[in-house]
Amino acid sequence: MPLITNTDKPSAAVSVFLWLMSFEIHLETAMENNHFDCIVIGFGGVGSAALRYAALNGWKVIGIDRFGPAHNHGSSHGQTRVIRKSYFEHPNYVPLLQDAYKMWDELNKRHRTAPEIKELLTQCGVLQIGPAGGSVVSGVLNSAKEHNISVEQFSAEDVHKRLPIINVPEGHVGVFEPDGGFLRVELCVAAMIKQALAAGATIKSGVCIDRWNVDVSGVVRVQSEQGSWSADRMIVCAGAWTSDVLGNLNLPLKLLAKQQHWYQLDRVEQKLVNQFPCFLFEQDDGACFYGTPELDTLGMKVCEHSGGLPIESPHQLDQSIDSEQQARVEGFLDQNFHFTKKRLVHHSMCMYTMTPASHFILDIHPDHSQIAYAAGLSGHGFKFAPVLGKRLVDMLDGEVDPRFDFLRNPKSA
Ligand SMILES: Cc1cc2nc3c(=O)[nH]c(=O)nc-3n(C[C@H](O)[C@H](O)[C@H](O)COP(=O)(O)OP(=O)(O)OC[C@H]3O[C@@H](n4cnc5c(N)ncnc54)[C@H](O)[C@@H]3O)c2cc1C
Repeated sequence: MPLITNTDKPSAAVSVFLWLMSFEIHLETAMENNHFDCIVIGFGGVGSAALRYAALNGWKVIGIDRFGPAHNHGSSHGQTRVIRKSYFEHPNYVPLLQDAYKMWDELNKRHRTAPEIKELLTQCGVLQIGPAGGSVVSGVLNSAKEHNISVEQFSAEDVHKRLPIINVPEGHVGVFEPDGGFLRVELCVAAMIKQALAAGATIKSGVCIDRWNVDVSGVVRVQSEQGSWSADRMIVCAGAWTSDVLGNLNLPLKLLAKQQHWYQLDRVEQKLVNQFPCFLFEQDDGACFYGTPELDTLGMKVCEHSGGLPIESPHQLDQSIDSEQQARVEGFLDQNFHFTKKRLVHHSMCMYTMTPASHFILDIHPDHSQIAYAAGLSGHGFKFAPVLGKRLVDMLDGEVDPRFDFLRNPKSA
């Protein structure tokens, strides 16, 4: 058995789902009809949610993805995604997160039809540690105050008493959000696609849309090597490929390859889920590291939120291990966790699609009011997936919601 693997093997639940999906695809091919109310390009994190809400909205909708459901080539893989409400990035995100929690809960209830099915969201809490005046701790406290969210402030001694494995650097404090936790990312995507199919959506996997246009009657036409489809509307959720699909918009997007690591530490007694929270540490130099507790025997997941390897195109994503990112994460572990032995058991590369201020872009195409898009989720967008997916559908339905105005493309606002 190799110590380090770099394949993201789908869990048994996802495998069964993918197997079932092949029947859906064959069934859909037999019933081919190429005009739809809506085409969704990309059914990763946000696209799978948009597909589901479009189907629930009563639209005849098709989702098209260059890979399969819940794959490991984009930005929505690697076992877990942290979710938290008291958002240090900006208090404007908090009302959207309040919706997101309700939507994940609703999705989970539909998904978890038996106790042995793994839950989508686990609320084990999130402990955030940093300099008292740093952007993380003060940002969390600001958002908590503005939106009346319950958080607990911890001194270094408080943290040490509760979680002796953690070493809080001098001058740093902690803030604990009990409602925070993690989402099982592949399972969430699979569940949203499954529920979209149940609501009448159609999907095409392994199909890359190479070209699209809007004809004189306003119909959107998309083309690929495998076929072409048309629709009255289109939603683009192409993640790291957004500049390929919407190149003429010149969106200010930059890609970062980010390595996810799983470690087994020798302090086994603290690794169990629900006994250990998700964590996020801001360092004095502004660098940020985070992790999720040990799950499914893989080990504790630890990553750097800052940094990353700039790449020009998603086609350059390389799954071989980046020793520089590994060394930075291990430096963080050595400094902030007490243990005698650590073992890297798994790693996986993923992509952040960054905007200059790290805020998402959610808008209508400036030349085509029948096209909506989500882009530049900047490494923190998964927790919002159902909210963004629904909003894309609502925007095409002409619904106004000023809570999302801060996410419009600055060029079109
Ligand atoms: C390492 C890492 C850690 C993260 N941690 C967190 C976290 O803790 N919490 C959090 O909230 N967020 C986190 N994020 C961010 C979050 O996961 C992403 O923002 C989100 O998953 C992106 O979803 P997406 O739909 O934009 O992209 P994707 O899920 O990548 O979906 C894009 C889809 O479009 C398809 N596609 C592209 N072009 C075409 C085409 N021409 N034709 C057909 N299909 C196409 C692709 O195949 C892909 O499936 C993290 C991201 C990474 C990489």
